[in-house]
Amino acid sequence: MKLAVVGTGYVGLVAGAGFSDFGNDVTCADVDAKKIARLEAGEVPIYEPGLDVLIAKNVKNGRLRFSTDLAGAVAGAELVFIAVGTPQSEDGSADLRAVEAVAATIARAMTGFLVVVTKSTVPVGTADRISAILREHTAHPFAVASNPEFLKEGDAINDFMKPDRVLVGTDDERARELLRRLYAPFVRTNDRLQFTDARSAELTKYAANAMLATRISFMNELALLAERVGADIDQVRRGIGADPRIGAKFLFPGAGYGGSCFPKDVQALLYVARSVDQPLEVVAAVDRANVRQKLVLGQKIERHFGGTLAGRTVAVWGLAFKPNTDDIREAPALVLIDQLLAAGARVVAHDPVAMPNVRARYGERIGFADSMYDALADADALAVVTEWHDYRRPDFARVKQALREAVVFDGRNVWDPRELRALGFTYYGIGR
Ligand code: NAD
Repeated sequence: MKLAVVGTGYVGLVAGAGFSDFGNDVTCADVDAKKIARLEAGEVPIYEPGLDVLIAKNVKNGRLRFSTDLAGAVAGAELVFIAVGTPQSEDGSADLRAVEAVAATIARAMTGFLVVVTKSTVPVGTADRISAILREHTAHPFAVASNPEFLKEGDAINDFMKPDRVLVGTDDERARELLRRLYAPFVRTNDRLQFTDARSAELTKYAANAMLATRISFMNELALLAERVGADIDQVRRGIGADPRIGAKFLFPGAGYGGSCFPKDVQALLYVARSVDQPLEVVAAVDRANVRQKLVLGQKIERHFGGTLAGRTVAVWGLAFKPNTDDIREAPALVLIDQLLAAGARVVAHDPVAMPNVRARYGERIGFADSMYDALADADALAVVTEWHDYRRPDFARVKQALREAVVFDGRNVWDPRELRALGFTYYGIGR
């Protein structure tokens, strides 16, 4: 099939590469000329494990190409996927300007019947809005479908190629048929294609993210309670996770959730709920708890050093919002760094891949270390904020020797408090 994917970010690139790998002819288009130039030069502008190999293979076999010419990509395509960003507006709502602009461009460029599919996370009613824009700008027949994306950064290729489910929200039988054919190889072993109406598909995406965020905020609040009452949240986590009605996944307390999806999608869902006068009390509390949680690690550090960090240096391991990505959008590490700087500390940071993105934000205001151990030289304390594999079993003797004071703040509960205390560290975790 001939496809166009508009927006070559974390979602669009993975989708474009994944679709082409199953034999489709795909053009990935973006307005960012620098990004497209890098892709055309064989560079992958984001860090996502396995994506470089998948892109190179399909570019080489002629099924995948990149372009700034949106109209050219759309002309002659059977399906167009909109995968542009839908960032948070000031009022919390999803900013749909890019989606709407792309819809208008598609309408002007289409040459015959076309199925326009939204992969971007968009509020309920967006499929109708896109239909209205298409009707306004073209006389050609079209169908619109909502096909929200559920991939996780860091494991995106696996999620995309072997999805838990594929949601196709549309009432149009031609769109259903084309998308059924497109996704058949992705759901071959287990038919996980779910057909819904567009509004339900749109809401499902927000419901899924809000549910996952709820689990995290729930555990983070319980972790704070566990500290107060002398319980160990890790033991509680294993206890409740063994119940199949609850399940063991997504129950890890930490320094708060970040990333390009949960924070903005929770806000956008709250906005929609408010606008139809059906407020979501649980989801509102999830967001408040997360804002508070992102400050917890910094508060522990300040308290340890007697309320001021003037003259102190703190080493921070892990900047990406989670391991295996270079994405720092809404990352808890950024909140911690701001907090440490405001309290007068010097910060030396390390991350396996996200340092260039963080440097672009802070410049010379913080230090960056070439290796995780270099970050510890002259540091008074170490905080780990992202649970990269590299940080899970460090050489603790080396850590202790390098730090001015043997104190660690474990924002992801990756280390064993008893082991660290036996080695002579002062250990602070979350909820234990
Ligand atoms: P991103 O910021 O990485 O990429 C968006 C791309 O769209 C950028 O390359 C940008 O240049 C391009 N773009 C913006 N305006 C454009 C326009 N008018 N025409 C053409 N291209 C344009 O975003 P992302 O993380 O890939 O997310 C895209 C969408 O998918 C969002 O709605 C997001 O909520 C959703 N989503 C993201 C993830 C994730 O893990 N990142 C997962 C599921 C869903």
